[in-house]
Amino acid sequence: MSTIQTDQHAPITGFEVEDGVLCVAGQRVDQLLQSAGSPAYLYDTSLIKKRITGLRAVLPEGIHLHYAIKANPHPEIVAATAPLVDGLDIASANELQVALGAGGDPEHISFAGPGKREQELAAAAHAGIIVNVESVREIHYLSQLQTQQPPRVAIRVNPPFQLKTSGMKMGGGPQQFGIDSEQVPGLLRQLASLQLEFVGFHIFSGSQNLRAEAICEAQQLAVQLAIDLARHAPAPVQLLNIGGGFGIPYFPGEQPLELASIAANLEQLRDRARAVLPQARLTLELGRYLVGEAGVYVCTVLDRKESRGQVYLVTDGGLHHHLAASGNFGQVIRKNYPVVIANRIGATETETASVVGPLCTPLDLLADRMQLASAGPGDLVAVFQSGAYGYTASPRGFLSHPEPAELVL
Ligand SMILES: *Cc1c(COP(=O)(O)O)cnc(C)c1O
Repeated sequence: MSTIQTDQHAPITGFEVEDGVLCVAGQRVDQLLQSAGSPAYLYDTSLIKKRITGLRAVLPEGIHLHYAIKANPHPEIVAATAPLVDGLDIASANELQVALGAGGDPEHISFAGPGKREQELAAAAHAGIIVNVESVREIHYLSQLQTQQPPRVAIRVNPPFQLKTSGMKMGGGPQQFGIDSEQVPGLLRQLASLQLEFVGFHIFSGSQNLRAEAICEAQQLAVQLAIDLARHAPAPVQLLNIGGGFGIPYFPGEQPLELASIAANLEQLRDRARAVLPQARLTLELGRYLVGEAGVYVCTVLDRKESRGQVYLVTDGGLHHHLAASGNFGQVIRKNYPVVIANRIGATETETASVVGPLCTPLDLLADRMQLASAGPGDLVAVFQSGAYGYTASPRGFLSHPEPAELVL
């Protein structure tokens, strides 16, 4: 295995290089693109496995790990991941089909999202999965369904706190997710008279965080909130989902998340939860942390242009395939993802160049003035950290160019 160093980014590990050509799962990307077509997302499932094994080795015993499949819902990715985790979190009826198709155990599938259709709620109840209810309407709709077993519900709580310095804040103050924590005690008291099985709480407060202290603090607050709310619950808490928020390093200067203090904190929280809520499975739900580093997006240079002294490599891929790498998926300030010329790794001849796509908008930018190997038509551009929120988080219909391929290796 080689370590690939790019412009000021954390080193990229897990990929080999053969004759200057990047390999994914041991196969050269030039050959992979010859068969798959260009552009393509290439995923190495052995890296997902390695990530999960490594995480489990650090986490204390008794912490349950779920995969939030919206990060990458490719059926083969979900099928490779499902046996390695304790449950799957879904966000739509289509994701439910993917989760069940991947062999996910309905007992440990949960369904979150602020706008669930009646058919989706019914499908979830009939499949016997847990619905993380986010409104009074959802509770009442579920309680009136005719199902063999009462629908299983966890209350998604909008906590009074948020995950600090999070890439995306999802908690604290008003928001569309979950039920405000101050309304939860009253609702819990009503649940006893409804045809529902209360299973626990879901408290998700943010995403893409690289600060271990912030994650620990949010986890402490989530466990405390659940303990306080559980006093009003009609049944013992079986599921205590405290969210995730584990980030991966995307941008210059970022470092991988330090797990040791998170593990130590979780050990204390596990003991606390065991004492007060002895039936509760303390659960983390992670998306990008499990799959984000296992994927690479590769496109081909179509043209090389110089405009008033600046080099542009114009590719067949861009924002329409990989919105996040263009900086338009929730980022406040655009920063470069780790990008390399995939068939000239380690080249001594380099230059400052921008990598753009074929769309008629200046937003279609994959690399802004990065130091890259000198390149031209036919060369390949690889964008790392592309295993999560890539293919399905991009406006692939915009300008009607061909869709990228996806290869699960
Ligand atoms: C998006 C989401 C996740 C996954 O977030 P990552 O940043 O990919 O780990 C987990 N839980 C909920 C409720 C989500 O909405």
